[in-house]
Amino acid sequence: MSQTDGKAADKSPIECDVLVAGAGSAGLSAAHAFAAQGRKVVVVGKIETNLAGRTVALFEGSLRFYRALGLWEACSAHAAPMEGIRMIDDTGSIFPTTPKEFRSREIDLDAFGENIENNALVAELAEAAKKNPAITLIEDLVDTFELNFSVARARLASDGWINAKFIVAGEGRNSQARQIAGITVKTWSYPQIALTVLLAHEKPHHNISTEFHKRSGPFTFVPLRGRDGAPHRSSLVWLVTPREALRLQALSPEMLAAEIEDESHGILGAVTIDGPLGAFPMGGLKTSRVTGLRMALIGESAHLFPPIGAQGLNLSLRDIANLVDCLEGVALDEPDKISRALETYERQRALDIGFRINGVDVLNRSLLVHALPVDFARAFALNFFSAIGPLRRALMREGVTPHGPTPKLMRARPPVSRRPAAGKV
Ligand SMILES: Cc1cc2nc3c(=O)[nH]c(=O)nc-3n(C[C@H](O)[C@H](O)[C@H](O)COP(=O)(O)OP(=O)(O)OC[C@H]3O[C@@H](n4cnc5c(N)ncnc54)[C@H](O)[C@@H]3O)c2cc1C
Repeated sequence: MSQTDGKAADKSPIECDVLVAGAGSAGLSAAHAFAAQGRKVVVVGKIETNLAGRTVALFEGSLRFYRALGLWEACSAHAAPMEGIRMIDDTGSIFPTTPKEFRSREIDLDAFGENIENNALVAELAEAAKKNPAITLIEDLVDTFELNFSVARARLASDGWINAKFIVAGEGRNSQARQIAGITVKTWSYPQIALTVLLAHEKPHHNISTEFHKRSGPFTFVPLRGRDGAPHRSSLVWLVTPREALRLQALSPEMLAAEIEDESHGILGAVTIDGPLGAFPMGGLKTSRVTGLRMALIGESAHLFPPIGAQGLNLSLRDIANLVDCLEGVALDEPDKISRALETYERQRALDIGFRINGVDVLNRSLLVHALPVDFARAFALNFFSAIGPLRRALMREGVTPHGPTPKLMRARPPVSRRPAAGKV
């Protein structure tokens, strides 16, 4: 169900079980997950499908999440599988590592995951939300929140209140709900801009993502689905210094394509720019807590780090699946029970979030710091992990389906048999 401005003008408050603030990929995903739990959900946010050049690589756990909610079929029309990940040391270090290639079949998966354009994902999630009778999508902003033991309320920017039993804060890095709940944040920045662009290229990618490790950060091609007239396509995430970003942004598409060919040593052949160039300053954000009274943080409201190892939205979907599990069977008008469920959420998320923020930070800084001991440690760690079979597979599994309790929405389901059961025609 979708409401744009009409509902806001109505002065009587809208009542719901769960209010999701923010209609980005995390907020919309949360709305679907809570609706599937039988909650009456309102999601408030503008549908933004204008992120230039951005794609998300979703790993197996995330695909299970969307399949379990019946959302992946529509999305899969825009996605390409990632069957391999290739890492190439392009730092010029005196401790170079040979290129490493990891294959999904080494851990018994057809693919590590699928890569999809952000805009297509958000558009499909929003379309499905509009058709879901348990979800009301209000394309507006939340102006303010009121959170206490007995009530969770939000006022819409265009006037009108929403009374909820529980609030999911998915309004991204500047979350207002987080601030009102008194949750403090530690933020930092990196001297990097992520340039993002979609590319058409001459040679096939063979469903392999290629990550060049450079001194300014990773330069990563991720496979994309081909389209009419452009059978071979990839997305590029290129971390560069702010000064270099300005230079590259000023180039013509042809000159930019030539630079990309040079940087990638021509592995995809001739390259053409296939969409606008995006630029995103890199930073990190850690919160003191991920819960407040009758509320929980998900997605970039709860954590932020650079796009290394494609962890951001995958982690956010684990937030959501975990939160849904914690609130399973909890009557949302019983504050004590909500508080107990949130204690579990707090405990369970701390490890996963901390591990990703710190892991990405170490990897990123190991490229940015030009010091021989750091170069040596990075080369040694990569060679060591990739050479020893069990460690290599453990590393791959950790990226795709991390250790720890797997939330219900991310558990593997037995394959559906296409053959009729014995005795049936
Ligand atoms: C270059 C790049 C590449 C990436 N690649 C990957 C990848 O391959 N795999 C992966 O898993 N992750 C990846 N990520 C991370 C991933 O894209 C993000 O984690 C994800 O998009 C964040 O989603 P979100 O919904 O939490 O936040 P957002 O997308 O920021 O959504 C928050 C929404 O809330 C809205 N909002 C704000 N205030 C209010 C308010 N008051 N009321 C209502 N709405 C409000 C905002 O307008 C916005 O629409 C990448 C990130 C970058 C920068």
